[in-house]
Amino acid sequence: MAKTIFERTSPGRRGYTLPANDVEIKLEKCIPAKFQRDGDAKLPEVSELDVMRHFLELAQMNHCIEKGFYPLGSCTMKYNPKINETLVRNNGFNNLNPFQDEDTIQGALEILYDLQESLAEISGFAKTTLQPVAGAHGEFTGLKVMKAYHKAKGNTHKTKIILPDSAHGTNPASVILAGFEVVEIKSNTDGMVDIEDLKAHVDENTAGFMLTNPNTLGLFEKQVEEIAEIIHAVDGLIYMDGANFNAILGVVKPGQIGFDIMHYNLHKTFATPHGGGGPGSGPIGVREDLIKYLPVPLIGLKDGKYFLDFGHEDTSFGKVHSFFGNFMVNVRAYIYIKMVGAEGLRRISENAVINANYIMKSLEKYYSIPHKDIYCMHEFVASGEWQKDKYGIKTLDIAKRILDKGFHAPTIYFPLIVHEAMMIEPTETESKETLDEFINAMIEIAKECEENPELLKKAPMNTPVKRVDDTLAVRQLNVKFEW
Ligand SMILES: *Cc1c(COP(=O)(O)O)cnc(C)c1O
Repeated sequence: MAKTIFERTSPGRRGYTLPANDVEIKLEKCIPAKFQRDGDAKLPEVSELDVMRHFLELAQMNHCIEKGFYPLGSCTMKYNPKINETLVRNNGFNNLNPFQDEDTIQGALEILYDLQESLAEISGFAKTTLQPVAGAHGEFTGLKVMKAYHKAKGNTHKTKIILPDSAHGTNPASVILAGFEVVEIKSNTDGMVDIEDLKAHVDENTAGFMLTNPNTLGLFEKQVEEIAEIIHAVDGLIYMDGANFNAILGVVKPGQIGFDIMHYNLHKTFATPHGGGGPGSGPIGVREDLIKYLPVPLIGLKDGKYFLDFGHEDTSFGKVHSFFGNFMVNVRAYIYIKMVGAEGLRRISENAVINANYIMKSLEKYYSIPHKDIYCMHEFVASGEWQKDKYGIKTLDIAKRILDKGFHAPTIYFPLIVHEAMMIEPTETESKETLDEFINAMIEIAKECEENPELLKKAPMNTPVKRVDDTLAVRQLNVKFEW
């Protein structure tokens, strides 16, 4: 193996030249003595070429969407058109300052306004705010809107939010953060909300209901209108977790089928980079009478001029982020929406759904698929339970073996209501050839489980980092490189 950058160090070797320092620095004035280093930092002394090779090598050790298929269910690893990256680097965007006078940022405000209105149109809501910077942040914002709604009515006894047991972990976390209590209800054998269980848990203390649609099993929840009726009957609000919006763009407008509030994960549905913890964007949309509780400012348009609209500041529950959210992330989503247009959005969803069903049908003989009798949406949940029962192979082993075949693993052990879950989501931009390669790899793995189970337990073998001892890593965590 090639030497690491640390082993290549050679005293005095440099990869840069700086002009001579002509500023006198009084170190003791800048940094208190106790924080000053007593010698030079121990850094590798290497050439520019060594540095480039170091970072390129690190990048190549990682799997990324540019390198291969990335079927990470629930996360929608979208293709991010490179034109987005070129356009956001435009100096007109880069040199903006959020404190600039409105007259000088009309273009930027126009983009935000257009995005705000486009999202409302796509989802059937009256208004959206672009301030939240992640899906979870959108959930929190939506729940705060619910809180403000009930508070304004004097309904302080409304403290409970109901969630199905298939909900993403951020849902209960957001409920708690927003100061509500979680009430969990069951899914039925079809993977849908169990209406009887819902009815048993709804009462005058119900503040609202959160539903992911399509849900985390990759299934479209068909009972939305009925659920909305039950929740609205006690003056509760119904929230849609829109992380899976990629499946229904241009087909369903959640704001028109009973939902009152919804968040969008722009980084999952509208092609902006996703991963490494952000930055993301999680706008929310609301129905007409809830606009007054949204964070300020919204972006307004009056007499041909865009402006920061603080109009409902008195009723707003507050701000959730500085200024207007993650501006550049929103610009990327805007470019994407403009580029594909209304028809393109619908085709995205159709292709996402076709891709997922193609893989699901192709694998049904090899893996248990609990809900295969219903067409899935943009993703589906398979289970490794056959392999576990017959050969003692865990889903974790299968996921590790998938890495050996050059793919990112699907999401595993989620949703919690499916044993040995593998949640597979092929993005709409993947070709049939790529899907076939993945299907073949999954079939090969199913055969390996039968013929050579020991191999699975050792996987991955072809990756830069081999099987990690999870137990040891927890007990003796060591993430420091010593040299
Ligand atoms: C990703 C996801 C979230 C949270 O979104 P973040 O942008 O990661 O905060 C919530 N619900 C579901 C169903 C998700 O897939």
